[in-house]
Amino acid sequence: MPLDGTHKFAADEPVEEPYYLPTGNEISLFEQCHAQKLAVMLKGPTGCGKTRLVEHMAWRLKRPLITIACHDDLAASDLIGRFLIRHNGTEWQDGPLTRAVREGAICYLDEVVEARQDTVVVLHALTDHRRMLPIDKTVETVPAAPGFQLVVSYNPGYQRMLKDMKPSTRQRFVALDLDFPPLEHEAAIVERESGTDPATAHALVSLAQRIRSLRDRGLAEVPSTRLLIATATLARNGIPIHDACYAGLVSPLSDDESLVGAMRDLVDATF
Ligand code: ADP
Repeated sequence: MPLDGTHKFAADEPVEEPYYLPTGNEISLFEQCHAQKLAVMLKGPTGCGKTRLVEHMAWRLKRPLITIACHDDLAASDLIGRFLIRHNGTEWQDGPLTRAVREGAICYLDEVVEARQDTVVVLHALTDHRRMLPIDKTVETVPAAPGFQLVVSYNPGYQRMLKDMKPSTRQRFVALDLDFPPLEHEAAIVERESGTDPATAHALVSLAQRIRSLRDRGLAEVPSTRLLIATATLARNGIPIHDACYAGLVSPLSDDESLVGAMRDLVDATF
């Protein structure tokens, strides 16, 4: 992966279909948004499949995918580009967003609320009828090539109400609501991704569902599908299931003794 945190699948790269099990109409909605040149906001808890959906859609739509992990140091120039100093002068280098605009790629900004508002504003001209990226430094306006699509992800449950998205930004997107899939679906995902047996996958998901209900008792982060896959992978590779659950599922979620105790009790009651 390049140092700027971006990852790109080239259009001509023979990529295998990224496995994605839909839970609703998200694939057809996404396809329509792409066809109608609408930007998409994927809402949902951490580890519920947002990134995997984008990877799957890029494959399905045969577009390159450029992913940008957002953080609070991300400046507009990190997205757009900058002049680099060379021995014979300066040279402009496109940032990942500009590359995506020129190439007609899908540009995925993961955890967009982490980015500063002044950074997010550069997306505005791309999300309305203009579909243009103005680059002040080169006095250039880059029209979005066919196939370009902006996708952002957003975790509304994240304990950062202060960092909510501005209405002027969020109203530029079609929002797809994602959540953890129903039991049978999530078990199928865990089984497929970890290679565990169906009974273990099923038991892990029902355990996760019980742990998720502890949210009402103050558990801030609930177990994601990703954690279940990690736990199942540990167990499949020889770690006893209780230890796998404590290390893979319980401990990452909380440091609070009583919550950890309650989760361990649920593990012991499940396996
Ligand atoms: P997010 O981007 O929402 O944080 P990811 O897309 O990275 O989460 O999902 C975490 C992992 O869970 C994925 O790598 C994948 O293995 C699995 N996963 C979650 N949901 C699905 C799904 N609907 N279909 C296939 N795999 C899924």
